[in-house]
Amino acid sequence: MDTQEVVANKVVATGAYHMRFFPRWPRTGLIEISLMESNASRPRLEPEFAMRVLASGDVHGRWPVYRWLLTVAHEHRVEAIVLAGDLLGCLEGFETPEEAQRHEAGMLIELLEGAAAPVLYIMGNDDLVELASASNRVQSLHGRQVECGRFKFVGYQYSMPFMGGTFEKPEAEIQTDLARLPASFDAETVFVSHSPAFDILDPGFGDSQIGSRSLREFLEANPYRAHIHGHSHAGFGRKDNHFNVASAGRTRAMIIDLETLQHQVLGLELGRVEA
Ligand SMILES: [Zn+2]
Repeated sequence: MDTQEVVANKVVATGAYHMRFFPRWPRTGLIEISLMESNASRPRLEPEFAMRVLASGDVHGRWPVYRWLLTVAHEHRVEAIVLAGDLLGCLEGFETPEEAQRHEAGMLIELLEGAAAPVLYIMGNDDLVELASASNRVQSLHGRQVECGRFKFVGYQYSMPFMGGTFEKPEAEIQTDLARLPASFDAETVFVSHSPAFDILDPGFGDSQIGSRSLREFLEANPYRAHIHGHSHAGFGRKDNHFNVASAGRTRAMIIDLETLQHQVLGLELGRVEA
């Protein structure tokens, strides 16, 4: 694991941002973003600026963690927030877990719409339902490419069978899906998946490894700038261009500068699981 740095909250003056989204592969149910939005009140970012993203995953419905992420995004003036799956928990008081998550998904979209930067997300194996955001401030990356400045974000949310979840698939199907991704991978591509690549930041229970071999083969065969993922809570950290940002329900995340590929680990009381 790389050096971790506890960063105290500090107030940074808010600047003017403009984020240009060029979604090429809109999915059913999502509103396609116009090429250049003309909403004058929307924060603006000039693409020549360094592109820094706040990345986290595996929040598992911990609302204090989401609120902390939104505070960090605002204070550090990041250009986008990336959420790498396992977003929802299981609220009590509902007939079924799916119903609970559907309700929670609606609340989460509303919360994320208030973030200081656009949110790009995928789901994970512990999510039973899609977030299904129709907002242009909160977009799914799964199976599509979103361009931000000169960087291209591409997402894939399935991981290998674990508990029979909605977003799990066997290796062979993951391999087929990845081969069919409607995206052109190059040195500016930021690939966001829930699963790690096999044997890279992927420890599971005991001696097991929960990364996908298909994913690893795919990334070895294709150029990319960075691979951001979650799923393995114990694998949080960085190895080469792979960034495991699994918060494991804690207040921890990374800011990744896509220009320099420098990263910074952020956390309140790192190592302590938040209640
Ligand atoms: Zn997971």
